[in-house]
Amino acid sequence: MQTLKIKSNKREEIVEITREVEAVLCESEIKDGICVLFTQHTTCGLTINENADPDVKHDFLLFLKNTIPQYYEGFRHFEHNSDAHIKSSLVGASVTVPFENGKLLLGRWQGIYLCEFDGARERKVLVKII
Ligand code: ZN
Repeated sequence: MQTLKIKSNKREEIVEITREVEAVLCESEIKDGICVLFTQHTTCGLTINENADPDVKHDFLLFLKNTIPQYYEGFRHFEHNSDAHIKSSLVGASVTVPFENGKLLLGRWQGIYLCEFDGARERKVLVKII
């Protein structure tokens, strides 16, 4: 098991981690299998999405922010980050990517992303190569 440390610079940010994952895969020297990424945090998530147009990341965050505002009438959680907890569950805490010949089988336009919903801070992403 390897641990990636990923820094976010804003409260809400989508940080591409594809290269970091590829580096772990390369180090493992395993050629065929699956790569499982998992985060133990409750206010960020992991996803796979488009890596070409940065506006996709912008629109993704904008939509979530408008749909799930930080301050919502009736929220009770004392940390005032219930929006981040909800977004974390919607996005999910893990992704799985198959690989062959030492290469992740991502689509041409796919990248792996950490979705930060309560930064800025450092996050850990566990990487298990099987
Ligand atoms: Zn909280």
